[in-house]
Amino acid sequence: MTPLERALRERIAAEGPISVEAFMQACNDYYYATRDPLGARGDFTTAPETSQMFGEMIGAALADCWKRAGAPTDAIYVELGPGRGTLAADALRVMRSAGFAAEVHFVETSPVLREMQKASVPDVHWHERIDDLPAKPLLLVANEFLDALPIRQHVGAVERRISVAAGGLAFDRDGEILETSPARDQAVSSIATCLAAKGGAALFIDYGHERSAPGDTLQAVRDHRFSPVLADPGEQDLTSHVDFEAVVKAARDAGASATPLVSQGEWLIRLGIKARAQALSRAIRA
Ligand code: SAH
Repeated sequence: MTPLERALRERIAAEGPISVEAFMQACNDYYYATRDPLGARGDFTTAPETSQMFGEMIGAALADCWKRAGAPTDAIYVELGPGRGTLAADALRVMRSAGFAAEVHFVETSPVLREMQKASVPDVHWHERIDDLPAKPLLLVANEFLDALPIRQHVGAVERRISVAAGGLAFDRDGEILETSPARDQAVSSIATCLAAKGGAALFIDYGHERSAPGDTLQAVRDHRFSPVLADPGEQDLTSHVDFEAVVKAARDAGASATPLVSQGEWLIRLGIKARAQALSRAIRA
């Protein structure tokens, strides 16, 4: 039994069944605090770890927003859940060459990942919580961050919980599931409030759906494979698909405007990733 499973069983024995939200929060807090989950030797790989072009395209898009806004000197680069800091390093290289010289702020809870981020991006300012960010114009990116925030699941009007049954952790009910994520709504709302007051742009990149719909999207990944979600708590990555209709609503309710969604592939092609790939392969051959 994992150390976290022992702690969760004690909690359930003392308090009764725990919500999916509390479970996901406890698992991911433990998981990210204790390891670097990325790459071939980790549990999953992300786009910035696959190619430098991903961060470069994001840097180009943010630099373009910044220039069109008149290159405000108080704007800051912000990243939520920056992993190893690879995306930031690639994006900032492009932004610096476009004249952006401002501060870099990361929202990151994991001490292990903060160490790696320090190596990729020196002079970064860290924050535990989004609400601790300075009130300045933001050039913000969050790749595979929203999917790691806890969700609630409901079956009918009842919140789905996890209890101990037949010696193992088990869901207390099944049926058609509706998911909500107050933590995600709160994160988006906080960023959108700052954008509405101070200006800037935020880019949220994630797996998800354009319209809210019923369905169980909670998933666990370990060693590059899907795994049962209740297995080995704290030792595998728990995520859910992002409900972008809810994200857009949270942003608009807080006074920001939201663009239509676009698939990652289409967005990268529109930004010119093919030309960048050709330039890189020419540079490699030369
Ligand atoms: N963006 C990176 C890493 C994605 S993994 C990439 O694309 O490679 C998720 C990241 O979010 C990790 O850095 C993790 O430590 C961070 N994270 C997860 N939950 C968080 C929370 N509640 N607050 C701040 N950071 C969190």
